[in-house]
Amino acid sequence: MLEINQLQKSFGDTQVLTSIDLSVKPGELVFVIGPSGSGKSTMLRCCNRLEEPTSGSILLDGEHVTACHGAALDRMRLKIGMVFQGFHLYPHKSVLANVMLAQVKALKRSKEEARARAMEMLEHVGLAHKADAMPSELSGGQQQRVAIARALALDPKVMLFDEPTSALDPELVGSVLKVMKQLRDEGMTMVVVSHEMDFAREAADRVVFMDGGVVVEAGTPEEIFGSPKSERLRAFLSRLH
Ligand code: ADP
Ligand code: MG
Repeated sequence: MLEINQLQKSFGDTQVLTSIDLSVKPGELVFVIGPSGSGKSTMLRCCNRLEEPTSGSILLDGEHVTACHGAALDRMRLKIGMVFQGFHLYPHKSVLANVMLAQVKALKRSKEEARARAMEMLEHVGLAHKADAMPSELSGGQQQRVAIARALALDPKVMLFDEPTSALDPELVGSVLKVMKQLRDEGMTMVVVSHEMDFAREAADRVVFMDGGVVVEAGTPEEIFGSPKSERLRAFLSRLH
């Protein structure tokens, strides 16, 4: 579904991604771990060209993301749902309007259709009753679930999560992880950058450990957490405890 080949990214003279290869099968949840600054966000951002890769290719469902321009790139981006640490909701629009907006503007859906789809997705994340609320009236966990609903309403082929629970108070993390688990169980293809190792053990098909702009080690949660091979991964995991 998503295939990253020999992805390199430099900012000026600084090479941040050296040569990333990663392929994500339909319905797979790939969980990405690694120290701060290892290039996890840059890799995700390259997938929808928020960052322009220096070299390498990225394919989504067989189509070259890296070769798209203009309107084709806009269409491609809609197929890649992104959820960030900050929720980036429009503060002066209602929850419902937030979930409708890109559907109308980018997918050219009618307002009726967009509203119906938005309500369906808000229902899905357990927030239909907050449709008319303003984002500021919601908890961080609820705002993040709205951001997830907004991404899902565009019918993405893959969902990329960049530390979706890192900005949340601990008691709000569970509600967001629950929605992510549910998405996974429904067969959504997902790449999740996170520090929630319990979630990884429970929900990930594969765990990828990045350090210094390379994939150092990848395997099942049992392999990565139970019998890490590289010294770097062992050191990383030991710092978590
Ligand atoms: P992670 O998400 O794993 O913490 P990032 O992808 O955010 O890592 O960053 C990897 C490295 O790239 C860091 O050293 C960071 O300072 C650098 N970096 C990220 N974005 C930029 C940018 N726009 N310009 C220059 N350097 C950047
Ligand atoms: Mg990051």
